[in-house]
Amino acid sequence: MIEQAQQWIRSAPRVTVLTGAGISTDSGIPDFRGPNGLWTKNPAAEKASTLQHYLVDPEVRRFAWHNRLTSPTWDAVPNAGHLALVQLERRGQLVALITQNIDELHQRAGHDPARVIEVHGTMRWSRCWECADRRPMQGTLERVRAGDPDPHCEVCGGVLKSDTISFGQSLVPEVIAAAMSAAGDCDLLLAAGSSLSVYPAANVVPRAKAAGARVVIVNGEATNMDRFADVVLRGPLSELLPELCG
Ligand code: NAD
Repeated sequence: MIEQAQQWIRSAPRVTVLTGAGISTDSGIPDFRGPNGLWTKNPAAEKASTLQHYLVDPEVRRFAWHNRLTSPTWDAVPNAGHLALVQLERRGQLVALITQNIDELHQRAGHDPARVIEVHGTMRWSRCWECADRRPMQGTLERVRAGDPDPHCEVCGGVLKSDTISFGQSLVPEVIAAAMSAAGDCDLLLAAGSSLSVYPAANVVPRAKAAGARVVIVNGEATNMDRFADVVLRGPLSELLPELCG
């Protein structure tokens, strides 16, 4: 199965990739729903990622800011899985890399940022919920470090959050349209490190399949979209992706 997938990936002129939190676990950033996921271990953590709770409850925001401050993302570096995907771009095969991740490790691995479609935003910036003022996250975290457990917007006093799409928040229409277009315009879709259970991002898989693309899914456990795959591979991404894309 690996050899078949390898051969399909090497010979596909146009490849679109969809990644999820599982590609960054080997960089030390936990996922949500995997065996060691943040929500698997602490179901209460889900509240901090849910817009309705975040906006109204200062306690939830204080918890979220504390988590941001101590996030392993700040020290994380791309792993062999991220680096393997860059080979697709270097060989001129990559249509787009659609990611649900918010850690920017794909750009740090060497992708052209213009090829990376971040459907759930980025945690490296903060944004005001009221006036949309956007600033580098590290500056906002300095205020938390200095003793403000729930910093508000310096322009309008509104609630600040990371520039990510929380659960319950609408996606940016142009961004999800670009993702669906890349899914409909490839010969092969490679989905890696996602439970494929968050919508509409997961719909990239049936979209690619309906447009005639081959679908290869690589993940540590079963996904919600395995039925659409031509090949499903199970195993650690930092080993499988170099084999598939190297
Ligand atoms: P998810 O937590 O629902 O699923 C991750 C999947 O990856 C799981 O099925 C798990 O078994 C698998 N996995 C974990 N480590 C693996 C490894 N080393 N090799 C192979 N498989 C592995 O993640 P999701 O589908 O991306 O959805 C969760 C949402 O939360 C997304 O929006 C995601 O961006 C966000 N999130 C992002 C980060 C990040 O940016 N790194 C981290 C946590 C959550």
